[in-house]
Amino acid sequence: MIDRDRLGALLRRERAAFAAGNPRSAAEYAQAGNLFGRVPMTWMNKKAAGFPLYLAEARGARVTDLDGHEYADFCLGDTAAMAGHSPEPVVAAVRERFEVAGGACAMLPTPDAAWVGAELTRRFGVARWSFALTATDANRWAIRLLRAVTGRPRILFNSYCYHGSVDESLIVLEDGVPRSREGNVGAPVEVTRTSRVAEFNDLEGLERELANGDVAAVIMEPALTNIGIVLPEDGYLEGVRRISRKYGTYLINDETHTFSAGPGGATGLWGLEPDVVTIGKAIGGGIPAAAYGLSQRLAEDIEAIPGLDLIDMGGVGGTLAGNALSIAATRATLEHVLTEPAFRRMSDLAEMFGKGVQRVIDEHRLPWSVTRLGARVEYRFTSPAPRSGTESSRAGDPELEDFLHVYLANRGILLTPFHNMALMSPATTEDMVAHHERTFAEAIGELTGRTG
Ligand code: PMP
Repeated sequence: MIDRDRLGALLRRERAAFAAGNPRSAAEYAQAGNLFGRVPMTWMNKKAAGFPLYLAEARGARVTDLDGHEYADFCLGDTAAMAGHSPEPVVAAVRERFEVAGGACAMLPTPDAAWVGAELTRRFGVARWSFALTATDANRWAIRLLRAVTGRPRILFNSYCYHGSVDESLIVLEDGVPRSREGNVGAPVEVTRTSRVAEFNDLEGLERELANGDVAAVIMEPALTNIGIVLPEDGYLEGVRRISRKYGTYLINDETHTFSAGPGGATGLWGLEPDVVTIGKAIGGGIPAAAYGLSQRLAEDIEAIPGLDLIDMGGVGGTLAGNALSIAATRATLEHVLTEPAFRRMSDLAEMFGKGVQRVIDEHRLPWSVTRLGARVEYRFTSPAPRSGTESSRAGDPELEDFLHVYLANRGILLTPFHNMALMSPATTEDMVAHHERTFAEAIGELTGRTG
């Protein structure tokens, strides 16, 4: 078991080393008083060590901060940089579009968009694609379309899911009771009026909710990835599809993170049949881009609704959505970077990463678990691995997490700030993975007082 006094002392030591080692980042943070929370976006205050590191350069899976430290980056922009930072084919496509040909926002389509639509259909199955700039917007617009086509008011979410800052999604189950998620900022209406909630891996709970007959859509990640990774149990995803069809509820797979599973995400890997796929972040190779894809039947049903304003101010769309630059970057990412061979390599590296973490856990007999979904690996401070979001949220240990994050950062390794997630890119190397295993082993050795 973890000795909390030892953990507290180690965390203080590591924070002091971080502060001493990063004077330029500290100075920038100190003088950013005109930013709300001192950061460009308030979530950048999710920092384990008092102030964030400031970015100087990033290329492939390496990041350099303002103080000149170099990192093996397993955070990869929490998936936005799963293609690696500034991959060459994307840089070339962006330069070609923006500099050579010129024009990002002319309000005119480019031929790249049809190529991207066809490629997304090949990978994810659904046949009619539209674009957004963020996964949040892709989800918001998909939700609106499904409310319109069903005439039903509510959306069902899994407890402790994350689908972006979508109003309807901030709902959890607490002791079996649906509630607004703690800290929910300025909810437009009480979330239990717009949403229903079930536990991941709980088909009975799902059926109980859908039987109310007022749910337009279930939106889910085929594996939860935002509260650790929670994998679906045998039969669960098939059950979700069967039950959703039974009650006339549409199914949205949000593949923004589960894209790590393979070229067609979890939908492609597991042969799933959602009505809608949403995806953001990684598909743009670092340039903002997102998309939602509808089944052909659903697209036709939506187009047949009289009076629906899909063209002007009806609530789906944004001026910059589908802009030529985002689309060019998306094409380059899918065509040249996040390819099938790249995913195979990324998955192998993630397997190596996970085995390394497991070896250390076993050596120290820690009651922790490691879970992997393709190129994404995460460890949780509980074993066996949690089967639902609520179970996984109970296994959180912020102090322990902070210690590991600062310890690793002080030794040249970045993990995703919001959890113990490591992601592989096409540019990640075996040396980086081995460096992580050695450093993780040292951290745990110091924590348990045994060097393993
Ligand atoms: N869907 C999922 C599954 C996500 O993990 C996230 C963000 N972590 C989003 C949607 C929202 O993405 P964005 O913040 O880029 O809108």
